[in-house]
Amino acid sequence: MNTLLSANWIKTCNDYGDVCPVFKKEFVTKKPVKNAILNITALGVYEARLNQNRVGEFILAPGWTSYNKRLQYQTYDITNMLEKENILNISVGKGWCVGRLSWENKSSFWSDEVAIIASINIEYQDGTKEDYITDQSWQTAKGPILFSEIYDGETYDAGIVPQNWKDSVLFEHSKDIIVPQDGEIVKEIEELAPICIITTPKGEKVIDFGQNLTGYIRFKISGNFGDIVELSHAEMLDKDGNFYTENLRSAKQKIKYICGSHEEIYNPHFTFQGFRYVRVENWPKEIDINDFSAIVVHSDLKRTGYFECSSPLLNKLYKNIIWGQKGNFLDVPTDCPQRDERLGWTGDAQVFVRAASYNFDVENFFTKWLRDLKAAQFENGGIPHVIPNVLGDGGNSAAWGDAAVICPWQIYLTYANKNLLAEQFECMQKWVEYMRFQGENEYLWNTGEHFGDWLGLDAPEGSYKGSTDEHLIATAFYAYSTSLLIKSGKILEKDMSEYENLYINIVSAFNNEFIKDGKLISNTQTAHVLALHFNLADDKQQIAQNLVKLIEENGNKLKTGFVGTPYLLHALSDNGYASLAYTLMLQEDYPSWLYSVKMGATTIWEHWDGIKPNGSMWSKDMNSFNHYAYGAIADWMYGVMAGINIDEKNPGFKHIIFKPITDSRLDFVRASIKTKYGVVASVWKREGEKIKYVFDVPKCTSATISLGGNKYNVKAGRHQYIF
Ligand code: BGC
Repeated sequence: MNTLLSANWIKTCNDYGDVCPVFKKEFVTKKPVKNAILNITALGVYEARLNQNRVGEFILAPGWTSYNKRLQYQTYDITNMLEKENILNISVGKGWCVGRLSWENKSSFWSDEVAIIASINIEYQDGTKEDYITDQSWQTAKGPILFSEIYDGETYDAGIVPQNWKDSVLFEHSKDIIVPQDGEIVKEIEELAPICIITTPKGEKVIDFGQNLTGYIRFKISGNFGDIVELSHAEMLDKDGNFYTENLRSAKQKIKYICGSHEEIYNPHFTFQGFRYVRVENWPKEIDINDFSAIVVHSDLKRTGYFECSSPLLNKLYKNIIWGQKGNFLDVPTDCPQRDERLGWTGDAQVFVRAASYNFDVENFFTKWLRDLKAAQFENGGIPHVIPNVLGDGGNSAAWGDAAVICPWQIYLTYANKNLLAEQFECMQKWVEYMRFQGENEYLWNTGEHFGDWLGLDAPEGSYKGSTDEHLIATAFYAYSTSLLIKSGKILEKDMSEYENLYINIVSAFNNEFIKDGKLISNTQTAHVLALHFNLADDKQQIAQNLVKLIEENGNKLKTGFVGTPYLLHALSDNGYASLAYTLMLQEDYPSWLYSVKMGATTIWEHWDGIKPNGSMWSKDMNSFNHYAYGAIADWMYGVMAGINIDEKNPGFKHIIFKPITDSRLDFVRASIKTKYGVVASVWKREGEKIKYVFDVPKCTSATISLGGNKYNVKAGRHQYIF
């Protein structure tokens, strides 16, 4: 039986400041053990060791949730780790719960102090049982981790052995919030070797891992007792080739290691860094890069999607998108992994969720995060900007709050997960109801502050917001979320007639308010994209032609930001302009997806011009080189280039709609998605004047293949066509 809830929250008897405490319990197993488990969670992040061996693989356990409502605990099978006399040590860092978060430099969002609660349940082979729960008999001492914070890195003194153990103290904190682990754990996923060491023009020794990634460095070191080594992390070198950390803002991302008397292999415990380059200072000997590796850390998601085509640049872009997802799916979908944010920005998650769900199996990952979103929803139905919420009342922006509806809907489509829709329905409905009462009438959302078309290139000087009218965006998303709520309600067999009426009225209000004489009031790419993709305009053909004109007048280049970009190519290819969509996809000059690839990117950048054509950087205020949002384009690669689509009426790829659109500039495209039924795949390849198509339809599924104006309804198996 799990006795965690009869255990006590415990903390150290006096304040250790920044030093991470170690909690200790010694216990003896009196008879042969049949089975033993450890249940544990913390306010902070913990690492447990039993008889010196690491318990489990979870990095930054118990993960990040809306801690005031939900705190996950983990259960570990420790049967094979037990000896007769046992010592359980649990180190605890501040993590997200107690440490500092956001650029506002605030700490202790959910607790002022770190604490743990745990229970050990032993079942002996003779059927008797014994439990140990956290209480004052568990002891604490200062550990070797002198400092560890998510943004700032870690200071570790290898010479310290915990001593002066003192009894711990009971800590008052709710146990009602404790819930079982929902999603995948965060763990070490890959280990990358350095590609080289550079001496920069400033004389800095910098190790290059060749890939911008999220995780930490592991190194082997033997120095003199007390030697202090420093490692700094950066995503980029500047124009002159020097180490560049300005875009980290206040995040220090620094490791300080104080040598003990033995050789050691070390990696940090309660922090992670976003980096490609590592500057090494005060290394005790000549640096040997073989003593260093980069450990890639993220949620343990299974890879499901693959894409390849005849353009090496597009293949690199796709790879960068995958790395963008790896770098930012660390228990919550974060905006970026390096500067003083690393927060679960709702807008970013919403923009990327479809691509994310094709690339990796994110069903549990989003289920967990959406539970936290629901837990953090404001009473009036509003949605915080970031989940878990560390921005107080900050929330309710159009296209950001809509994550409440768009994300569960997409998880339903990709995985046919009706339970999640049922679980989230009330939250979705409350968000729609929130929007309903914001505008001057219930069909418009023409009030409030929004992020607009964030980072759109048509932003007025000095602004981050593209110039598309914010209320046009807000009303468009209000309509879109209402349409998804209606579909969701119908799947759950609810009467949605009230919302069907509401939807009709919102669309007509959109036309009256934002379209004058057949023209959108904002003559921007994004306004046109939304009107088309959300099916809001009465005269779609006219709007599509206007969009084409805007793009052509801009030299076949995009101008869209976070809101317009994910749908831009869809809006074109769905309305008869696939060739122009391909032109944008294949555009290599700034601004374009391939521009960053040509500039050497290994992830997706926050800005189209993170590094400008002349080599200078975008403002240090807001210049992440690992921001997945524009990687949303992967869903067009799977859905249009390879033509793999979900049938809303038979979600989870039970029925597949294949609709590839080829382009003369490419010789082949190949993509596959591993679904619950098996691998769905689509390949097309030029063979002389013709194109050969091959489609794989898994067992227990069927497909409709649209090719050359024909539709073929097919069963499971491999299907080939030549046109
Ligand atoms: C984040 C974004 C986010 C935005 C909201 C930024 O600081 O990095 O990705 O969506 O703020 O506008």
